[in-house]
Amino acid sequence: MRILAVGAHPDDLEILCAGTLAKFKKDGAKIFMAHLCNGNKGHFEIPAVPLARMRDKEARNSARILEAECLGPVAADLELYRNKPTMDKVIDIVRKTKPDLIITHSPDDYMCDHTVTSQLVVDASFMASLPNYKTKRSNYVSVTPLYFMDTVNGINFQPTEYVDITEFMEIKERMLLCHISQAKWLKEHDHLDYVELMRKVASFRGLQCGVEFAEGFRLHYVSGRIKPARLLP
Ligand SMILES: [Zn+2]
Repeated sequence: MRILAVGAHPDDLEILCAGTLAKFKKDGAKIFMAHLCNGNKGHFEIPAVPLARMRDKEARNSARILEAECLGPVAADLELYRNKPTMDKVIDIVRKTKPDLIITHSPDDYMCDHTVTSQLVVDASFMASLPNYKTKRSNYVSVTPLYFMDTVNGINFQPTEYVDITEFMEIKERMLLCHISQAKWLKEHDHLDYVELMRKVASFRGLQCGVEFAEGFRLHYVSGRIKPARLLP
């Protein structure tokens, strides 16, 4: 299996689906981790340009843990729009990675980079299959099944499928801790413990499905995306 996970910012995938990606990896899948925004506004003190560089490095360090290929970014934070140049870049991420399954944000997550990422990925993964839609890469024949991952803190998201990630919590935590700039920033300025938050949500989703830790997903339930078997690990 080839799995393409697309988050808005460096660190979203770690918070919302890294346990599942680790489980896919253990089953022999090839993992691609993309972030569409460069993370350049996620700090009060570090200026945008060095911050974007730092966050890119943190994302690559995290992806390395899963031997995943890290892709993106295509825009600065809060400057991600559903326009043709951006769409073409996202289509080319799909065409390059040729996924059997895509994971991305829920369309009603908490802020615009997340909601626009969701729209871009849903539309790009359809458009990527059309030979007459020209980009730098040739078309990928499949319209890929797509799952929405949990929203931040699970708000207004009812999973329809769960993945038991108990065995993979250590890896998920290690990947999240690669995002040093964010962990430090959230602790100092919002008094939030990044890892503790992630563990609470995973524990709550675990409670719902009878395991210690889980991640929740919802299938993008539309014609052409439905398969007669469970695709999540
Ligand atoms: Zn984010």
